[in-house]
Amino acid sequence: MEDCTFCKIIKGEIPSTKVYEDDEVLAFNDINPAAPIHILVIPKKHIKSLLEVDKEDERLIGKIYRIINQIAEEKKFDKNGFRVIVNCGKDGGQEVEHLHFHILAGKPLGEKII
Ligand code: AMP
Ligand code: ZN
Repeated sequence: MEDCTFCKIIKGEIPSTKVYEDDEVLAFNDINPAAPIHILVIPKKHIKSLLEVDKEDERLIGKIYRIINQIAEEKKFDKNGFRVIVNCGKDGGQEVEHLHFHILAGKPLGEKII
């Protein structure tokens, strides 16, 4: 089966602007930013969505949140704050079927849904 867009980014077959990388996690700038800072953080393991997260992925998901807070400190938006969004499925508006965490920052993020 053909790799998804984000697996192609992981393999370097689609270019991206990398913000963070280790053997399990990649973070890169969103191609269509919704805020001055819009970074996507993804596991290198192809997990289709939040619904596909297994027990064995618990450590990896925790690590992703720690990396998000590391990026916030490095990019210096930790003090002003930021928002993390995971869209899941059709009603959640998920377009790329590879689990990803949006980090939005760099301005007041406006109306909150919740
Ligand atoms: P979602 O709607 O939650 O599935 O988010 C998918 C996100 O991936 C969108 O914000 C897109 O702008 C972003 N995106 C899609 N293709 C690329 C790409 N090649 N490089 C960077 N971001 C991308
Ligand atoms: Zn994938």
